[in-house]
Amino acid sequence: MFNTLSNKFEKIISSIKGKALISDDDLKTTLREIRIALLEADVALNVVKDLIENLNKKIIGQEVLKKIKPDQMIIKLVNDEITRILGSENQELNFDKNNITKIIFCGLQGSGKTTTVAKLANFISKKSKKKILISSTDIYRPAAQEQLKILCNKINIDFLEANLDLSINELSNKIMTYCKKNMYDVLLVDTAGRQVIDSKMMIELKEIKSIIMPQESILIADSLSGQDAANIAKKFNDEIGITSNILTRIDGDSRGGAALSIKSITGSPIKFIGLGEKIDDFEAFHPERIASRILGMGDIVSLVEKASENINKNEAEKLVNKISKGSFDLEDFSKQLKQMSKIGGVSSMLSLLPGISKIQKQAAENNISDEIVQKQLAIISSMTKKERRDPEIIKASRKIRISNGSGTKVQDVNKLLKQFFTSVKMMKKMKSMGNQGNPKDLMNQLKNLPPNFN
Ligand code: GDP
Repeated sequence: MFNTLSNKFEKIISSIKGKALISDDDLKTTLREIRIALLEADVALNVVKDLIENLNKKIIGQEVLKKIKPDQMIIKLVNDEITRILGSENQELNFDKNNITKIIFCGLQGSGKTTTVAKLANFISKKSKKKILISSTDIYRPAAQEQLKILCNKINIDFLEANLDLSINELSNKIMTYCKKNMYDVLLVDTAGRQVIDSKMMIELKEIKSIIMPQESILIADSLSGQDAANIAKKFNDEIGITSNILTRIDGDSRGGAALSIKSITGSPIKFIGLGEKIDDFEAFHPERIASRILGMGDIVSLVEKASENINKNEAEKLVNKISKGSFDLEDFSKQLKQMSKIGGVSSMLSLLPGISKIQKQAAENNISDEIVQKQLAIISSMTKKERRDPEIIKASRKIRISNGSGTKVQDVNKLLKQFFTSVKMMKKMKSMGNQGNPKDLMNQLKNLPPNFN
């Protein structure tokens, strides 16, 4: 996800990291590099301009250059600005508490619309006990109806098959009548897309909207189309009024342009992202977490959430407490390694750990596999309890003993320790920067997890 942009930011950040003093020239160079990185990521020009201007103002306004830790201050300001451009904070779906919540989906053909309807229905049904109905007003492509029906079967959600002989108007009315009669709580309606934006599609969408009267009109945009996705979203918004966006194919080689441009260009937030072809490859969009991922600072909150879906809440709470107290040790690290295979595989977990992107790259090069995780577990289990609690004491002779005991090389022990210390360092840094690593935020995130996440 946003790998190219993230790599560039990592380089930019490392060029100012640790500098006790940042000169005007350093600052100019940094801002220029940020500008280029964003433009190369296909972020819209006016969004980039706005971001750079704001950053410049804030840096000068706060007299960052004279501060004790100017590098960290700048990184924090960049993080804040990217978060702001992405939409500041997660926006939840608009639900009608007393009536049927109606959601319509629009977008171009192939943007991932149909798949996303099923993904969102599945997401809602996992988090609530709401009675959900899916239907489609695509009267042109029987295959689209068939695809949706199959997906609904898979996720066990009711599907109302459309009579393709009806007009859009008649069909929309029929869907509404059926939904009310059968007392559904949530209605999701897929609509027909087109290869390109055309006026007939917009007229149809307006008609559907006037009958369904949705709380949410969601545009599905393919993140691979970069800032074009934002321009398409703007056209839909101008014509029919969009309440939110869902970006698909974030898992692909997305340069980030769509995500960073859409909110500023359309004014409507991104609420979810699609991360793959599978139904579960879908998550709520959290600007602050994505900003952290882009800046290579990891995403501890998502890590904890992912973990809590698979391990119990007590374990997750203990982990957060350890992180917040700064007492995260190799025992915890080993527990995490064991959970990794359960939780979406090694590389997806690593990508969420702070400071891991370099290691992740190395890992990809070394073809990291469960075999390596097993090796690391063997290394940790060859340590004494004292060593696991306080890895600082592991010096040369202990390393030899541990490597002999685990049938590995001293380099393997070094590698593991380096990975562990990098994580701990980044956790501390995030804490001191007061961003999402803030233990209070983490605890709140945990408390807010729905009960079925235990
Ligand atoms: P529609 O024409 O807009 O309804 O698009 P579909 O839902 O049929 O999706 C087109 C293709 O994109 C299908 O092969 C989907 O599996 C795939 N797709 C949808 N969302 C994602 C995503 O987030 N990531 C990836 N990699 N593929 C996706």
